[in-house]
Amino acid sequence: MQYNLTEPSIYMPTSLAEALVLKERHPTATVYAGGTYLLWNQAGRLLNLPGSILSLQNIKELNRLGRTETRLDVGAMVSIQRILRAGPKVLSPLLATALEGICPPSVATMATLGGNLSVPDRCMASFPVMHVLDARCEIRSSKGTRWVPVTGLRSPTGELQLEPIELITRIQIPMEEWNFHIHRRIGSFSYGITADSLILVIVGKTYRGMLTEFRFALGNFSSHIYRNRDLETLLIGARLPLGKSKDLKAFLYAIQEDLKNQKFLSYHVQMERVLYILQSTLSNPFQYSA
Ligand SMILES: Cc1cc2nc3c(=O)[nH]c(=O)nc-3n(C[C@H](O)[C@H](O)[C@H](O)COP(=O)(O)OP(=O)(O)OC[C@H]3O[C@@H](n4cnc5c(N)ncnc54)[C@H](O)[C@@H]3O)c2cc1C
Repeated sequence: MQYNLTEPSIYMPTSLAEALVLKERHPTATVYAGGTYLLWNQAGRLLNLPGSILSLQNIKELNRLGRTETRLDVGAMVSIQRILRAGPKVLSPLLATALEGICPPSVATMATLGGNLSVPDRCMASFPVMHVLDARCEIRSSKGTRWVPVTGLRSPTGELQLEPIELITRIQIPMEEWNFHIHRRIGSFSYGITADSLILVIVGKTYRGMLTEFRFALGNFSSHIYRNRDLETLLIGARLPLGKSKDLKAFLYAIQEDLKNQKFLSYHVQMERVLYILQSTLSNPFQYSA
């Protein structure tokens, strides 16, 4: 179905198959999910829309939400608010906090997780948590289906790994048990993108007082997130709580040097906050038990 306006051309398919055919025919058409990123900061009376739009709003297949024992399946068009409404029986506390931190509640009624992961030039708010939780995306085109872990959604130089004829159709989030977790938004504002915006995610597992798994990511809304899997393994096997141990000091020093080398943080105060949160979490992770 196409509404024949001179400009822009708006395609509103009612099935996924139709959407994929349209995307193949019109690869430059801008995909419109909730539109909250696309229309963000448009304060004028007239909207500045791309020349050609492919709206996913009428596609029921993309609006499904399901939970099994081991994972959450989120259709690309399920709104953030609808995922949050599933409540604590379906969502882990970490996931609920991370989703609440994506955009203001009034925007979350329209905003989608699919849209958050598909923004071409930035890793948006959900990226760090989806990265550490090993979420993966179903990506479809008229030529077929492929699954890509969120860790592989961006090239080493930060480009979104999505062909012009492809759509993200589903996000699958493993529902593992973590013994401790932290999700913090650091910066002047709770939402929006400013030079000091930072998102920090930490998850960990313990067994008989020993650290058995640890993951840590930072997002600053650039085209990259910060994660160093080699450094994540440094403390594996350490006895908890780490208190003021030499191991913890060495780990914090290594993180600090790596963040400096990568120039990931813009302000000294961000470094101080990140190191403080890491230090207080790891010195006694049991206070942040899930
Ligand atoms: C006041 C306000 C504050 C906000 N604060 C934040 C914030 O703090 N953090 C944050 O992360 N975001 C924020 N946002 C932006 C936005 O709400 C979220 O990023 C949202 O998750 C985007 O989802 P959407 O469905 O609206 O995406 P859209 O705006 O529809 O699309 C976003 C991009 O993804 C592409 N796209 C969408 N869906 C698909 C798909 N299925 N397949 C392929 N490409 C697709 C679109 O073409 C577009 O480039 C804010 C927005 C507003 C209005």
